[in-house]
Amino acid sequence: MSDNRYDVIIIGTGAGGGTLAYHLAPTGKKILILERGDYVPREKANWDPQLVNVDAHYNTKESWLDKDGKDLHPHTNYYVGGNTKFYGAALFRLRKEDFGELRHHGGVSPAWPISYDDLEPYYTQAENLYQVHGNRGEDPTEPPANSPYPWPAVSHEPRIQQLSDDFTRSGLKPFHVPVGVMLDERNPTKSRCIRCNTCDGFACLVGAKSDAQVVCVDEAVKYPNVTLLTKALVQRLDTDAGGREVKRVIVERNGQLETYTADIVVVSCGAINSAALLLRSANDKHPRGLANSSDIVGRHYMGHTNSVLMAISKCPNPTIFQKTLGVNDFYFGSDDFPYPMGHISFVGKLDAITLKAGAPAIAPNFTLELMAKHSLDFWLTSEDLPDPNNRVTIGRDGKIVLSYTPNNLEAHSRLQAKLKQAMKQTNCAMHGHECHQGLFGRSLYVGQRIPLAGVAHQNGTIRFGHEPKTSALDVNCKAHDLDNLYVVDGSFFPSSAAVNPALTIMANALRVGDHLKSRLGVSTESTTSSQEVALSR
Ligand SMILES: Cc1cc2nc3c(=O)[nH]c(=O)nc-3n(C[C@H](O)[C@H](O)[C@H](O)COP(=O)(O)OP(=O)(O)OC[C@H]3O[C@@H](n4cnc5c(N)ncnc54)[C@H](O)[C@@H]3O)c2cc1C
Ligand code: SF4
Repeated sequence: MSDNRYDVIIIGTGAGGGTLAYHLAPTGKKILILERGDYVPREKANWDPQLVNVDAHYNTKESWLDKDGKDLHPHTNYYVGGNTKFYGAALFRLRKEDFGELRHHGGVSPAWPISYDDLEPYYTQAENLYQVHGNRGEDPTEPPANSPYPWPAVSHEPRIQQLSDDFTRSGLKPFHVPVGVMLDERNPTKSRCIRCNTCDGFACLVGAKSDAQVVCVDEAVKYPNVTLLTKALVQRLDTDAGGREVKRVIVERNGQLETYTADIVVVSCGAINSAALLLRSANDKHPRGLANSSDIVGRHYMGHTNSVLMAISKCPNPTIFQKTLGVNDFYFGSDDFPYPMGHISFVGKLDAITLKAGAPAIAPNFTLELMAKHSLDFWLTSEDLPDPNNRVTIGRDGKIVLSYTPNNLEAHSRLQAKLKQAMKQTNCAMHGHECHQGLFGRSLYVGQRIPLAGVAHQNGTIRFGHEPKTSALDVNCKAHDLDNLYVVDGSFFPSSAAVNPALTIMANALRVGDHLKSRLGVSTESTTSSQEVALSR
């Protein structure tokens, strides 16, 4: 076996690739992980809102194009651990119903080729692996689970608890958001996580966020059969003459081109970059791009309709770790709007520095500083539907082109209206109704839709399915057109649902990992239990 030949090559180390690498590491198979980025440097800048939120210090400097050919500077990150280094670690299961066909106001959300029950055991594994903190039974839409969360929910701070009580009094069912932070509230002096205000959007300086680097890649590379090459940008995949197998992975590293080969090649570059890689790998057997006889690759890009809504009240909001409360009462609709609307939760607490970057309208009688001190910073997510014309293509100079027209927007407007209504019903313990009267008029909400460059929740560009004419991957996430090419990042989603995507990407990587173990002739039980022993040490 030459030095450049492996059993498995995994491209990308985020939620999908990192989790798969962890799962396959104990098999003893020769595994190469290729990651275009480096490790996030551990430095005080990790937690600096000016550098992180305003100067976009850790974002890629790459530019893409929008459908009109204008430059697009994507808010995405190329590092070991991928975007999980910066994520808010809200780790949700999709709802059981999300796996079936759902009628929305803006169209139909298609069914998945697997059911919730197929993924349930892997959700449990992923929650254990990523140390998810949550309370089962609170979220009215949560799907059935075979075991409790491995850790109790992260507690609400007083202002959020007050809001939770208010919402409950008005008939809603607020719940604790499941989050992957290594917080041990029963043992604060030993807790790895210090519960700080720079989590969502920031890399964790103390390595206490359950991201794919800390949880998976760092563990995987402890195995002698696993090699990680950083700053290794995969440029293209070449096939054999028949076009049925990926034969060579062409990598740019240290300014040189290198070639690697493997029996199995797994692409996990994130939904946009994975589609771009397959499209760039077109050859005479795959003239529209690799795995693309269906012309599906790159299409059906989804990224959720997201917005941040700041509710300003007389009561200050001194919360440090704000991302603890969620509301899913309107997820599937309401009496007055019988279509799914989506999910309400929080972003990390906004500060004045970050607000300046977003240049929000100033609420009357408030400065930015005051607004930041008094705001509850909601995050609203609605499902966007898979439209074949919302797509990734390759444009001039080989640049990524992201063409996107938002859809299903009425659902999002209705969700915003529901939140506004719910806030009007709150009754603050300190100021009574006066705290909120007038303060919750429209002008006091600073509604900001997340722009196209906000590709944090990217998914759907290489959908899986039973039918090779309408999907690029089969149910095991193997390309229909090739025998040894798999994709395990967010691109396999046939629909985006309306909760955060990372846990589903992780769970699916574990599911595909079991399939790969069988294909490689390795028992799934023996490797999983040896990892459990290693983890418990
Ligand atoms: C600020 C922020 C907050 C978020 N909060 C949440 C949250 O709270 N909950 C949640 O569920 N999700 C959240 N997300 C989304 C979540 O991070 C993503 O869904 C998840 O990381 C996607 O996993 P992935 O494997 O598809 O891709 P990624 O994690 O993006 O990993 C792709 C990897 O591939 C590498 N790569 C790309 N191209 C190449 C190439 N050609 N060659 C080699 N390597 C390559 C990249 O460098 C990267 O490491 C958030 C994202 C952001 C940015
Ligand atoms: S210490 Fe805890 S709250 Fe702060 S960034 Fe790390 S994981 Fe997040």
